Amino acid sequence: MTKSILLAIFFFSQLWSYNIEHLEPPFWWTDMKSNKLQLMVHGPNIADLRPSISYDNIRIVDVKTLDNPNYLFIKLEMSKNVQPGQFDINFLKDNKTIIKHNYTILERELNSMHRNGFSSKDVIYLITPDRYANGNPKNDTVSELTEKANRKNKDSRHGGDLKGIIDHLDYISDMGFTQIWLNPVLENNQPKYSYHGYSTTDYYNIDARFGSNELYKKLSAKAKEKGIGIIMDLILNHIGSGHWWMNDLPSKDWINFEGKFIQTNHIHEAVHDPHLTQSQKDLFTNGWFVETMPDLNQDNEFLSTYLIQASIWWIEFADLSGYRIDTYPYVNKNFLSQWSKRISEEYPNFNYVGEEWTSNVTMVSYWQKGSKTYDDYESFIPSMMDFPLQSALNKAIQSEERWDSGIGNIYRVLSNDFQYGDPYNLVVFAGNHDMKRIYSELNENMNLYKMAMTFISTVRGIPQIYYGTEIAMTSTEDHGQLRKDFPGGWANDRVNAFVDTGLKSNQLEAKRFLKKLLNWRKNNAAIINGKMIHYPVRDGVYIYFREYKNDLVMVAMNNNERKMRIDPQRFYEVIKDRKSGKDIFNDKIYKLSKKVTIPAKTVTVLEIF
Ligand code: CA
Repeated sequence: MTKSILLAIFFFSQLWSYNIEHLEPPFWWTDMKSNKLQLMVHGPNIADLRPSISYDNIRIVDVKTLDNPNYLFIKLEMSKNVQPGQFDINFLKDNKTIIKHNYTILERELNSMHRNGFSSKDVIYLITPDRYANGNPKNDTVSELTEKANRKNKDSRHGGDLKGIIDHLDYISDMGFTQIWLNPVLENNQPKYSYHGYSTTDYYNIDARFGSNELYKKLSAKAKEKGIGIIMDLILNHIGSGHWWMNDLPSKDWINFEGKFIQTNHIHEAVHDPHLTQSQKDLFTNGWFVETMPDLNQDNEFLSTYLIQASIWWIEFADLSGYRIDTYPYVNKNFLSQWSKRISEEYPNFNYVGEEWTSNVTMVSYWQKGSKTYDDYESFIPSMMDFPLQSALNKAIQSEERWDSGIGNIYRVLSNDFQYGDPYNLVVFAGNHDMKRIYSELNENMNLYKMAMTFISTVRGIPQIYYGTEIAMTSTEDHGQLRKDFPGGWANDRVNAFVDTGLKSNQLEAKRFLKKLLNWRKNNAAIINGKMIHYPVRDGVYIYFREYKNDLVMVAMNNNERKMRIDPQRFYEVIKDRKSGKDIFNDKIYKLSKKVTIPAKTVTVLEIF
């Protein structure tokens, strides 16, 4: 072979080696509040190439590479007049175009900015999508994703998917749910335990075993037709070890501890504790949740911008009504503030809720927008999960009435609402995907179950109910057990809870009860908008009201093992000259001049008029 042929082979092999493996966000929109856009480009030695764009009103303002030449970060600026359309991003070497990548700017939906997030008018249905309904058995196993379906293994994938949820939107709507929160649906290409979804391996793609981006968008559109919003579960704290970044990190500081596994101490108090050593504080935030969940370093501005853009992208693309943010206190504090500010800038009426799993009100309220904090820190998140109330509720209704235990626990936690920026925007719940099923937690006691469901549906805040709670599903504390398949979601299931085939009488009773309660709540202005007014617990009975203009609802929880007679006149300050009360469950009318009997371990809800 001559030298020139060898040179030619060398030259072409160099050309051949350039390609783009990832370019994200995959597209963007006109008319966004921020005029900046960062493109992350990933491909072998992509840093050798110089990007160039020729499109009216869009220009490249900066191009950066971090430690790894396989990445380019292109910063674009768009002026107000940018029109929707397509253009090529040309990647040049020695002024020759080596790669052309077509990019699309879509027109932003009218009023997208002013979308409303979930609110106290809603009831959220939490679904573990792998365990709800298998609408498409063909995608149970997908060749390019490691873990295969095995319904016999409680910890494996069972095949539930987005199609299964779309197929049952009527059921969900009829039950009275108006928001769906799905455990994470982004790709989780992990060898095992991938079904729960908390190990994101791709921020821009729905896991193919659940469906596709287009199907997720369709779910959102179909749900919206029925008045149901979609809340995406988002993990900003960590990724899954199978994320494509882990094979080729953009920079040494992309993952905390330079990509090596060092576990967090899981001490949530570390954020606040004035006595704790700095290294323990840092370990809480920077340590990995578990070995398969590398911890992101959001101090890296390219990463923080990436995460913020991905979050905006999904709201815009899938028309979301909310986010639920996983492992909230584990995330870098400054980044959380920055994230919220950017989301609120693009969507001022959007809502999102953070998970801080502690029974300590001060530690939960610290994060919520509007709360006064000891260090003037603000994370600007509008909503938090009300873990303190969840814990108090479950303890209260299961404990004996004594001066230091019993239903007074609920009163005491609620009296701490002064610490929250907005207690009415907290998400209230009796259980979730990480907790033993509420019916089992309450020892399969139907009265207690009804008390718990009634409480979360009438107290201030936004109720959230875990799938299967409506049919009193049972479980141990084992994660695989408490996330059991919803009966009827799989072809040939002997029991089908969607159509009430094969359910036990207690399950039917639970379902009828909850359906009535939630559908009543939907139209009740006092519950949706009303002020919470309560009395201290007396003799094991907790009385609270919700009041909005002329609408008044009274809730009486009797935690005693015996019936109690209460005198409504004791509450004249709230009831004023109203004369009657109507029981929302049986339509019975009570005269408020007479005592009302509340049976043992039950709750009575009266519309007062
Ligand atoms: Ca499937």
